[in-house]
Amino acid sequence: MKEGQNIWPAGIKRTRQRESVLSVLENTDKPLSAADICSRMEKSGDAAWMSTVYRILELFVKKDVVIKTNVMNHEMAVYELNRFQHKHYAVCLNCRKIIAMDNCPMERFIPKLEDEDFQVMGHNLEVLGLCSDCKTT
Ligand SMILES: [Zn+2]
Ligand SMILES: [Zn+2]
Repeated sequence: MKEGQNIWPAGIKRTRQRESVLSVLENTDKPLSAADICSRMEKSGDAAWMSTVYRILELFVKKDVVIKTNVMNHEMAVYELNRFQHKHYAVCLNCRKIIAMDNCPMERFIPKLEDEDFQVMGHNLEVLGLCSDCKTT
């Protein structure tokens, strides 16, 4: 990647591999798995071990630079740059492609709870199905 292309997050030591991980995430608007990130790094000539990529991602998650989302009942996790937006995803059950949802159906949702004083802080929502490539016509 080019020097000075991105604003480096404060409080994180800048290393070539960390730069490379961040640059992969900056250049996509799709959430990626660690394996996806690894293979994209390899293509751009910055090959790294999966364990290294995981460590870097966990650091970025801890620093709120990257958002980690567990999908498929925690079978896998995807990572994306924290753009400070509320997001949900649809997951293809066949090829495991992850598609970002532009709307949130929970916006006007008021949960009926036994605990009337329960304070709602957020929610998780995952839509499962088959993507256009996997759908049988
Ligand atoms: Zn699919
Ligand atoms: Zn929502």
